[in-house]
Amino acid sequence: MLKALEGSGDTADAVVVAGAALSREQLRAAAGAVAARVAGAPALAVLARPGLETLVATVGGLLAGVPVVPVPPDAGPKEREHILRDSGAPLLAVSAADRGAEAYGARLLTVDPAERGEVPAEPGEGTAFILYTSGTTGAPKGVLLSRRAVAAGLDGLAEAWAWTPDDTLVHGLPLFHVHGLILGALGPLRTGGRLVHTGRPTPAAYAAAGGSLYFGVPTVWSRIAADEPAARALASARLLVSGSAPLPVPVFQRLRELAGQAPIERYGMTETLITLSTRADGERRPGSVGLPVGAVRTRLVSETGEPVPHDAESLGELQVSGPTLSDGYLGRPDADAESRTADGWFRTGDVAVIGPDGFHRIVGRASVDLIKTGGFRVGAGEVEAALRDHPEVLDAAVVGAPDADLGQAVTAFVIAAGPVTGEQLTAFVAERLSVHKRPRRVVLVDELPRNALGKVLKQALLRQC
Ligand code: ATP
Ligand code: MG
Repeated sequence: MLKALEGSGDTADAVVVAGAALSREQLRAAAGAVAARVAGAPALAVLARPGLETLVATVGGLLAGVPVVPVPPDAGPKEREHILRDSGAPLLAVSAADRGAEAYGARLLTVDPAERGEVPAEPGEGTAFILYTSGTTGAPKGVLLSRRAVAAGLDGLAEAWAWTPDDTLVHGLPLFHVHGLILGALGPLRTGGRLVHTGRPTPAAYAAAGGSLYFGVPTVWSRIAADEPAARALASARLLVSGSAPLPVPVFQRLRELAGQAPIERYGMTETLITLSTRADGERRPGSVGLPVGAVRTRLVSETGEPVPHDAESLGELQVSGPTLSDGYLGRPDADAESRTADGWFRTGDVAVIGPDGFHRIVGRASVDLIKTGGFRVGAGEVEAALRDHPEVLDAAVVGAPDADLGQAVTAFVIAAGPVTGEQLTAFVAERLSVHKRPRRVVLVDELPRNALGKVLKQALLRQC
């Protein structure tokens, strides 16, 4: 799975995390020391701070064939306890600075990137990760990801993005989800090339990093788009990539203007790893997440289980099959049964549209982004996009508030840059949207509730309705 961990082209700074560097040889030796200490354990939890220790511990667990359980470092005690107890990991790898960490029954194992140990041969099969979902819609669920699925996902990306050992990947994403950890940290260890993790994903850090490939979530890209010198500094990059949540079209356009290229958009889930992406050599279409990656297959299914036509208009649930699918949820047969169809496809719970040319557009989550109002179905994203077109709107999130008359009423939460009223915004979108799509209520707010990946927590907004 980590076939480039050994190999040609090693440099003293092959892996840089928050300013500290290791060569690949040093990373292997430090990970080998961890592997010797965890061999035979049923799982290794890793307190995933943006530091070299996280990478060393993760690679150490993988070399030892022990499933790795990344733990968000800033998770509240409840979430951390849930992950540690639910996964049953008896060991929690921490950095020296985390020695006092609460481990809820697990034993602390302090990781030192300067340590050196024998490097064991990497197993080919087995569970690589028990990775917890982001918890956007409920308590995070542990997803069993095999080494095969991870390898297939990374190889699919390498092909779609023409990712080679000549690339330097730059990002500052959390090291405990698919995006930042599996694609963003293991990607260079499978495909080759350097990794520069900036510690935090700030525009200044991205601008100064001099990479060829940049990963960001939409919040990161919108901050860079608002920082002209930083955006212009990315003009020499080969590829900018956005994922984890929808990229607002104005951000896509602004980056195309300033950096000379729009980001590639990709879509995936913890349960399906990498699923859809625009190709490096393909069209970058605003609002689209492109085509299936590698051997992934997708289909659109109606609420009654019928196939939905690929006509750029018809909405359906996106279902996925192929080599990147997880082996299911840990200890959750209920969620497993609910998420798989009788013929073995994974039900994403996301609503999408597929055009005749195969390009996919993600409308949003069936549970919160598909608003059923007065007999119509309205995609929250379309209303959000119309609001964002207003020059005084910095951001918008739309939900369906329970409504006695309509079932759900389109309700918008808006962050405004200047003086603008809800009535003015309603009048503005009235010129762009048909009657049933217009917000019944606009609430001006200072910020939108988001999780670590910048995903808007719509359940929290619904509780305010
Ligand atoms: P939970 O399952 O615990 O509620 P989560 O679904 O946010 O949390 P992840 O597996 O990290 O956990 O995220 C996958 C989801 O993120 C997808 O189902 C989709 O809704 C959203 N997503 C990912 N990439 C994109 C994208 N490019 N555009 C739109 N949505 C995206
Ligand atoms: Mg999910």
